[in-house]
Amino acid sequence: MRVVIALGGNAILRKGESGRPEEQWRNIRRTASLIASTFPNDEVIITHGNGPQVGYLLEIMNLAKGYPAQSMDLANAMTQGWLGFMLQAAVEDAFKGTRRAVTLITRTLVSPQDPSFKNPTKYVGGYFSKEEASKLSAEFGWVFKEDPRGGYRRVVPSPEPMDILESDIIDGLVKSGVIVISTGGGGIPVIKTSEGLRPVEAVVDKDLASSLLAVKLKADLFIILTDVKGVAINFGKPGELWLREVRADELESYYRRGEFPPGSMGPKVLAAIKYVSATRRTAIIGSLDELPEMLRGASGTAVKP
Ligand code: ADP
Ligand code: MG
Repeated sequence: MRVVIALGGNAILRKGESGRPEEQWRNIRRTASLIASTFPNDEVIITHGNGPQVGYLLEIMNLAKGYPAQSMDLANAMTQGWLGFMLQAAVEDAFKGTRRAVTLITRTLVSPQDPSFKNPTKYVGGYFSKEEASKLSAEFGWVFKEDPRGGYRRVVPSPEPMDILESDIIDGLVKSGVIVISTGGGGIPVIKTSEGLRPVEAVVDKDLASSLLAVKLKADLFIILTDVKGVAINFGKPGELWLREVRADELESYYRRGEFPPGSMGPKVLAAIKYVSATRRTAIIGSLDELPEMLRGASGTAVKP
């Protein structure tokens, strides 16, 4: 079986942790052994988020007075190397050396006409006062918006992924038994220009990029691992109902009703719907801690055609 597994933030850092390397190693090793015991003989492709890590790098750039800030594509590339390295090492250990793993710096093609370029909405990095924000905006040309959670934060466009440019290489690698870590942080967004591919200051949603990768690789199963046991309607409200199994069209109608917020469960639900509609196969959204149960249908939300 060929499976694409999209890891959420809690695969790398747990709530309340500060992000020390030993905390990251502990979580990543745990994640890797869950994957190894659940998919011992399968073709495995692992993707991951990078929000806190990119946030950290942006914060460091802001503190490094007098040094130029690096662009988003470079920050993304740094996190693909950072987390890819850790996952690669932990996965090989978890498979006890029976499988090789490799990290592939991945680019995601986006359209320069994507409407998000005119309306950046994706928050990245830390929180600033209005004064700090306007200073940074003058210095680096960053765009800031007020975050409903308080303070001002940098926003970047979040264009829709159109292609995963390394998917053919990934296909070859997984066919030869290698476990591939790719599309970290949604991949580095690039556009086609007359001079070739060029990076853009944007962030592609990692679940949507992973969904497209799973479609392109004709994966048999697409799994989105996060920190909740699945998808709920009326989440956190009276009448909360956790879905164990749901048809993609039914889930789409809940989505249209606004059951799933943009920055969190929304893109996961959309990613699952897109994969299931394109492949007529199953996607599962659930808790990393319950991966084995999810495969048995005892946890998570299975999205079916
Ligand atoms: P990750 O970082 O794991 O990729 P997010 O933190 O962005 O994922 O999104 C997962 C979060 O979505 C959950 O922790 C939960 O609080 C939130 N959430 C919002 N709406 C729902 C819903 N309808 N059902 C389940 N979880 C939801
Ligand atoms: Mg999260």
